[in-house]
Amino acid sequence: MPTYLFETEEHAALRAQARKFAERAIAPNAHAWEENEEFPRELYSELAKAGLHALGYPEDVGGAGGDITHVLCASEELVLAGKSVGTVVGLGSHGIALPPIVRFGTPEQIDRFVKPVLSGEKIAALAITEPGGGSDVANLKTRAVRDGDHYVLDGAKTFITSGVRADLVTVAVRTGGPAHGGISMIVVERGTPGFTVSKKLKKTGWWASDTAELSFESCRVPAANLIGEENSGFYAIMANFVTERLFLAGQCVAIAELAYRESIAYARERSAFGKNLTGFQVIRHKLADMATRIAAARALTSEVATRFVRGDAAPQLAAMAKNTGTDMLSFVVDQAVQIHGGYGYMREYVVERLYRDARLYPIGGGTREIMNEIISKAEGY
Ligand SMILES: Cc1cc2nc3c(=O)[nH]c(=O)nc-3n(C[C@H](O)[C@H](O)[C@H](O)COP(=O)(O)OP(=O)(O)OC[C@H]3O[C@@H](n4cnc5c(N)ncnc54)[C@H](O)[C@@H]3O)c2cc1C
Repeated sequence: MPTYLFETEEHAALRAQARKFAERAIAPNAHAWEENEEFPRELYSELAKAGLHALGYPEDVGGAGGDITHVLCASEELVLAGKSVGTVVGLGSHGIALPPIVRFGTPEQIDRFVKPVLSGEKIAALAITEPGGGSDVANLKTRAVRDGDHYVLDGAKTFITSGVRADLVTVAVRTGGPAHGGISMIVVERGTPGFTVSKKLKKTGWWASDTAELSFESCRVPAANLIGEENSGFYAIMANFVTERLFLAGQCVAIAELAYRESIAYARERSAFGKNLTGFQVIRHKLADMATRIAAARALTSEVATRFVRGDAAPQLAAMAKNTGTDMLSFVVDQAVQIHGGYGYMREYVVERLYRDARLYPIGGGTREIMNEIISKAEGY
């Protein structure tokens, strides 16, 4: 398998470690967890004990060190060897929930919120999207009004990954006037009166990960839970989106690589008209097209991740990597199902699940259209 160009021996060792973990702890249960729409909570601490949950975070906040390149490699192996995208994205929800706290939080907030999540003891989620709209982040409506040493929250969030089981949720709220200058980030802990999980949502793919609708009704949250300065949350959200989009681009590559491998194995074993499917040029060319597009998406993701680590990744590059990844993935999973014929439409086949999982990527973390808006603005049309 072609790896990312940035990879060193350190990345190879990490891949081996993640592969070993996923083969043992995820793969044997992947299908059951996806069908039951849940994986065991203990998996967070098992992943942490294996040294894979806190990657990409500095040691002084409880992290295991490394950067986004290490996260991309470990996460790809968890998908390839574990074969449950829902489990991997559920395990990874802290990847979007914690960075605002790490970047802008106080030492006390790091101790209370970041460390117990990175050790696998607690689950974290990020809540930005609202039932009334997700793309127009600057227009979000959930209010947080200061009352003494608390904020009182009223509003709702939806489509929140790991929201059903989260012990803490990094919530985007309106503390000031309209538009982006009135937004703040605040951490709401499970059990806070007025904070409820109003619904566990049923969805197309990512079944093993839970997705929630959250409600805040006169919910009193200590002012000490505010992350950074009041009304400075929009900047934190935008900075977070760049890494989230790179993660998502990497996930597209990983899922496509898995669909490609499953398709090669199936085509070699299945016969029609007296020969294996790989005996047909049209099938070989489908596989060749899949491999080519995966390589192209991997190359762009690799370049943007490398620039990001160097400190010069512009948001439009992450948007380009995400759109390239999602377009590639939509194509690859469709071809994978086609190569599998009727079995590709059956629930016990991995590619059937990957086909459903893939549909999220042009939507989540900013839609395909919003990525093009970011690119258009940066290009100055
Ligand atoms: C499985 C899943 C998990 C998710 N996890 C999280 C999470 O953990 N936390 C979180 O906060 N959110 C999460 N989301 C929400 C996700 O980020 C939003 O769904 C996404 O940002 C789009 O918002 P929306 O669904 O409200 O669509 P809308 O904003 O209503 O958009 C609807 C359509 O209109 C288009 N559109 C909107 N504005 C424009 C424009 N200016 N120009 C052109 N087209 C436009 C969109 O591209 C889209 O096609 C998740 C979503 C899903 C499905």
